[in-house]
Amino acid sequence: MKTGKAPWAMKAVISSNCLSYQKIACRACADFCEMRAIRFHPGLGGQQTPDLDSEVCTGCGACLVACPNGSIEMREVKLQEEVL
Ligand code: SF4
Ligand code: SF4
Repeated sequence: MKTGKAPWAMKAVISSNCLSYQKIACRACADFCEMRAIRFHPGLGGQQTPDLDSEVCTGCGACLVACPNGSIEMREVKLQEEVL
């Protein structure tokens, strides 16, 4: 039996042109994410790079608006159908 959940959902995705990957300190996306879906961890060279947990992301779009570099886009992803 299928749940009432929509089979598709919008999720944020951080692209490779993110300022953090260019060694420019930026955490605007994480600061605006109420769900704390974006966390930073040390990447190559010691700079902090973002990690986005799509399981936690609600697709609210706050990070997309906050990003000064247009590095975030919203993508529609198919949710796994759950069986009761
Ligand atoms: S879309 Fe919303 S919940 Fe998802 S990462 Fe961005 S701010 Fe967080
Ligand atoms: S706000 Fe944009 S540029 Fe800054 S860390 Fe997040 S994705 Fe990268």
